[in-house]
Amino acid sequence: MKKAQMVIESSAREGGTDPIFRIAGAAEKRTKEYGADAVINSTIGALMDDNGDLVTFNAVYDTLKGLPNHLIANYSGLSGQPDFLEKVIEACFKSCKPEGYIRSVATPGGTGAVRHAFYNYTEFGDTILLTDWYWAPYKTIAHECRREVTTFPMYNEKGTFNIEGFKKSVLELLDQQKRVLAVLNTPAHNPTGYTISDDEWKEIVAFVAKTANDQPDSKIILLVDLAYIDFAGEGEDARNFMTLLSGLPHNVLTLYAFSASKSYTMYGLRNGAIICVAPTQDIADEFVNTCTFSNRGNWSNGTRGAMETITKIFSTEELYHQAMAEQSFYKSILKARAKAFVEEANAIDLKLVTYCDGFFISIPCKDPKAVSTLLMEKNMFIVALGKGLRFAPCAVSEEKCRRSPALILQAIKEI
Ligand code: PLP
Repeated sequence: MKKAQMVIESSAREGGTDPIFRIAGAAEKRTKEYGADAVINSTIGALMDDNGDLVTFNAVYDTLKGLPNHLIANYSGLSGQPDFLEKVIEACFKSCKPEGYIRSVATPGGTGAVRHAFYNYTEFGDTILLTDWYWAPYKTIAHECRREVTTFPMYNEKGTFNIEGFKKSVLELLDQQKRVLAVLNTPAHNPTGYTISDDEWKEIVAFVAKTANDQPDSKIILLVDLAYIDFAGEGEDARNFMTLLSGLPHNVLTLYAFSASKSYTMYGLRNGAIICVAPTQDIADEFVNTCTFSNRGNWSNGTRGAMETITKIFSTEELYHQAMAEQSFYKSILKARAKAFVEEANAIDLKLVTYCDGFFISIPCKDPKAVSTLLMEKNMFIVALGKGLRFAPCAVSEEKCRRSPALILQAIKEI
């Protein structure tokens, strides 16, 4: 921990520690020097076309730019614009709406939703449960909120979801805290691309319901982070699990962190929502009041033009179909790139953790930082995580995806 000068001790932070932004800067510099063809830049967490340009949906940007200025410029309501709050529930669940008291509060991206969940559904100093492969900002958000994180091994020996590890950690935390908030980033987990299957969800739900009934004074909060859902599965089947999370006991709350960043290419527009499926009306009302208060106390309100855009897309059949067509076009490009990478990795025996869908694929290895540094010398930029490397098919052409496993394997062998 860095020593504080003027900030309070617990706010003293190291600068430039974000591993992704640091290496992304180096990749950009190399691309300028040698040209895009010579460089494999797998550091970016956004969907890029084969020329390395950010993909943006016309349905989204034609709508946004067609809004009257005052609908872009104005404040939104503190909890979000009322019609957006309805439409975002549709965007989240589509045809798989669970039973329960469902309410939403707009947040600046999924990050805002994660923040509100951590801050309002755990005590100061509590420990939040994550999988051992996890999106690094969860820890940042937890520390910013003066919470801790703990992890359980995400995979079992079969390479599927380690339900036994999840159960053990939930029970331990309940023993210590009487409340547990567990983050499940699925489908298309960042950084592995793993999707918890419907059968695995059934087991999770049965365990959570039984534990909640056995310990009626405890509280269990499941935070489902679905930032990548629209790039997972076929049609709407990645949403099937949502209906399983219905009719849970009074002391279980399901929260969804909805993000428009990837699904609607709205990254910098900061649009998202926290959505609850509550067992009672009172718990749902409490959720809205608390998260609205948190909005006011942090960023006041969200981006009005972004909310209006989503509302318009979900209220206009033609626009909606256009947005979905663009989404599914890029989803199939992403699938083809990931398939090329996985096929080639399997062919040369490069070990991956189980990948199902989404923007990222992870390669477990020793000393990921050294491997990533060595790869930089070969003009390949890949993010080093604690447990391995994160490759980003979202940002790399199919041809480069096919070439990458051999480079990675060679670097791992050289270290
Ligand atoms: N959750 C995960 C796992 C992510 O990877 C991201 C973005 O990278 C988010 C949530 C939230 O993104 P945003 O705040 O841009 O909606």
